[in-house]
Amino acid sequence: LSSAKGRRSRFTSATVTLPQFRFHPDPIGTGSVVAQPVDCVACNQSRTHTYVGPFYSEADLRDALCPWCLADGTAARCFEATFTDVLASDVEGVAEDSVREVMHRTPGFAGWQQERWLSHCGEVAAFLGAAGANELLAWPDAAETVRDDLAAHRWPAGQIEEFLQALNTTDSPTAYVFRCLRCETHLAYADFL
Ligand SMILES: [Zn+2]
Ligand SMILES: [Zn+2]
Repeated sequence: LSSAKGRRSRFTSATVTLPQFRFHPDPIGTGSVVAQPVDCVACNQSRTHTYVGPFYSEADLRDALCPWCLADGTAARCFEATFTDVLASDVEGVAEDSVREVMHRTPGFAGWQQERWLSHCGEVAAFLGAAGANELLAWPDAAETVRDDLAAHRWPAGQIEEFLQALNTTDSPTAYVFRCLRCETHLAYADFL
């Protein structure tokens, strides 16, 4: 933790406050935003932090946007960009505003396959980050949702447990953990190469 702080302070003045993303509360922790300077192509300003997550746009926005232009919708507007391609089946019953906020004004994250954004209690959930078997020990409710998902795809029980134990944050397979903003339960899905 202290080394991460040291790394950050080289680039960041103490007065910089990142925008708040209610559906992606810690984009630095998840790796979607890094403390590296950028000449942002949306606001044309030199900024202290760079968005390095996925994007869908005709424009090449790789390492080219600041998180402030994500947060206020400038980046989405200027480049007709979306940052997550939300699956309709993952957001059934969720208000269109929330879905649009995820697509256009929330940092995405990088998975091995097409990313999914989960919902719960009729609201989009907050993305907490990638997780492996060790991280999932802290979120047994999230591990349970991965287990249920695989069981629904008719995986045998033994294979499911093997898969759960193989989960990690740097290699395939990986789990992606979310928290319901209404009931605070954790949920996750997993993917692999
Ligand atoms: Zn900007
Ligand atoms: Zn819930």
